[in-house]
Amino acid sequence: MLLSQVPVLSRVGHDRAAIHRDSPEWLAAAWERGRALVVTPEYAAPLAEPPALELRPTAGLAGDRYFLGLADDVPIFAVRAPRDLRADRWADLREVGAILGDRDAGLLTTAVALARWHDRHPRCPLCGGPTELDRGGWVRRCPVDSSEHFPRTDPAVIMLVHDGGDRCVLGRQASWPPGRFSILAGFVEPGESSEAAVAREVDEEVGLAVTDVTYAGSQPWPFPSSLMLGYTARAVGDLTVVLRDHELAEAVWLSRAEIRAGAVRLPPPVSIAHRIITDWLAADGAGRAAGGPTDW
Ligand SMILES: [Zn+2]
Repeated sequence: MLLSQVPVLSRVGHDRAAIHRDSPEWLAAAWERGRALVVTPEYAAPLAEPPALELRPTAGLAGDRYFLGLADDVPIFAVRAPRDLRADRWADLREVGAILGDRDAGLLTTAVALARWHDRHPRCPLCGGPTELDRGGWVRRCPVDSSEHFPRTDPAVIMLVHDGGDRCVLGRQASWPPGRFSILAGFVEPGESSEAAVAREVDEEVGLAVTDVTYAGSQPWPFPSSLMLGYTARAVGDLTVVLRDHELAEAVWLSRAEIRAGAVRLPPPVSIAHRIITDWLAADGAGRAAGGPTDW
């Protein structure tokens, strides 16, 4: 099952223009004519109405800057600065990712992903000394040993496990409020394919064996640095749910009708889980997309 729509945080409306990252002269000139997206230490950004990012003139702005790319040939930079009074509303990516337009969703997702990486990787992993920002914010360089360190993305799998018919497995993490459920997820381990990670995580979390592991689509999830790889998988053999590693507080088989009737509270539209569940609900038992919008 491939997703019927691009997940909201996978949308893009700008050109990363990565070829310019190596040119300090080009970046300096681009800064003069560009626009800036302020990202605070808490990863909030200023909003304008209707929900859109407030992109500011760069004059007078100070703080670490990252070149995000070109939007309609205008250079866009993320700038690290505290919240101020120039904007009435500040919001983070989880709050507004699903309601921003394509361009702004792509800019904010990239800005937050870079900001979180810089904040968590201030030192050289080889010598322990402080590193310096380089190449428009896409590298950190160690001035002692000249080693370069690139933004990190951690692959994670997220999978809707179904029975080949009308039921799927939803689980609740202990930290989530009662009634809030989602599909299963976990990190890909070193030396492991994403398909093998799907099978391993399903076995560990709910004790089910799966087959027909099928790619659905992906979405960046920079909280702090994940790339969510979405799958569907069919459970085979004994379909009894067993919480083996206790990563989940509970997990249940639910039918489409039960989910549509509100048996559980589903994840928000900003998540790829929401997209995968919505598409599965819209598909019939044979896995064919029924087409058309769903009613929730
Ligand atoms: Zn070093």
